[in-house]
Amino acid sequence: MDSIFSDRITDVPRSFIREILKVAIDPTIISFAGGLPNRAFFPVDELRDAVGRVFDINGRDIFQYSNSEGCLQLREYISHRYKKQNLNIPVENILITSGSQQGLDLLGKTLLNEGDGLIIEQPGYLGAIQAFSIYKPAFCPVPVSDDGMNLQALQQVIESGEPKLMYTVPNFQNPSGISYTEQNRADVAHILRKTKTLLIEDDPYRELRFRGSGKTSFQALLPDRTILLGSFSKIIVPGFRLGWLAAPAHIMEKIIVAKQATDLHTTHFTQSIIYHYLKQNNLEDHIARIRDAYGRQCQAMLDSIEQYFPKSVKYTKPEGGMFLWAELPDNLTALELFEIAVKDRVIFVPGDPFYVNKTNTNTLRLNFSCVDAETITVGIQRLARAINKLMETKS
Ligand code: PMP
Repeated sequence: MDSIFSDRITDVPRSFIREILKVAIDPTIISFAGGLPNRAFFPVDELRDAVGRVFDINGRDIFQYSNSEGCLQLREYISHRYKKQNLNIPVENILITSGSQQGLDLLGKTLLNEGDGLIIEQPGYLGAIQAFSIYKPAFCPVPVSDDGMNLQALQQVIESGEPKLMYTVPNFQNPSGISYTEQNRADVAHILRKTKTLLIEDDPYRELRFRGSGKTSFQALLPDRTILLGSFSKIIVPGFRLGWLAAPAHIMEKIIVAKQATDLHTTHFTQSIIYHYLKQNNLEDHIARIRDAYGRQCQAMLDSIEQYFPKSVKYTKPEGGMFLWAELPDNLTALELFEIAVKDRVIFVPGDPFYVNKTNTNTLRLNFSCVDAETITVGIQRLARAINKLMETKS
């Protein structure tokens, strides 16, 4: 026995972001590194009231073991809300999970054998890379840019041996902030229709659109092969760890087995709190407040970047969500920039952990959800200074 650890865990990277966030505790540092929803919008008083109602209505039974699929009323609420958005997802096809992060793990457990092909966006969501890495798939990275997925690269990956799964975040992607256009979604769906590849559509930012019009979900384009993940983390609170997974019935059957093996069921106490919160409050109004603030903060970041960054830095212009993505000139790396920027008291996430096969990249993720507009301007000025300093060392 060479190691006490399983082969499964040995090569899975630690979360790089959690390491960086240790630096962010210093209050003089402006952090664009986090990926957190803004705590100012946690509906604390409303949740306190909802807790009272849970105790009044359910009494001690709320602490009993319960069913694996999750609270029926909450699943009905989710199904009904999708219906209003023209998505037909019956209650039986919805499973409540401990955050959508658990959904990713359950899908890995249920669908992936070692070496199975898995199409992943490049750059892609770090948490998905980590969750799927446990199951040792063969990652097939496909680049994404302003319009969405690179169709030629997707076609090539499919021709070189039809991967079993594809993972996508089509709305305000983490880390890049990009969204797939209608045309790109239709083209991706057209390519996938000729294959057996299953699609995982991870959509936690969908409701956080502050510009432009809503786009068709892959669930509507490819209903028989799409597994849709959703979450209350970005629209109510992340701390309850509540998300959901919607899958066609024949796939759901096995996912429930994986869920039972993992934790029997998601906590019914918190599910019930959220359900009573939703019953008493107007979620649309609440989301609109979050959207307005994130929209203003995103605009402040874009305006300051436009004004202060060297013109050779490229960046995305998100229509929603919490992140934008910047690309330095080719001869610079984001890790070098980080060293200088942290001394200038501003931090971000260097892009490397969002790639499965690249290091020392010139890319960085900037978060705008947790910093007010004035502080964003100061932070971007500091970052612009750091970029200029780094450029000087290279010239
Ligand atoms: N998917 C994406 C794309 C995310 O950005 C996140 C959170 N950062 C998650 C899933 C996990 O969210 P949850 O809190 O629902 O587990």
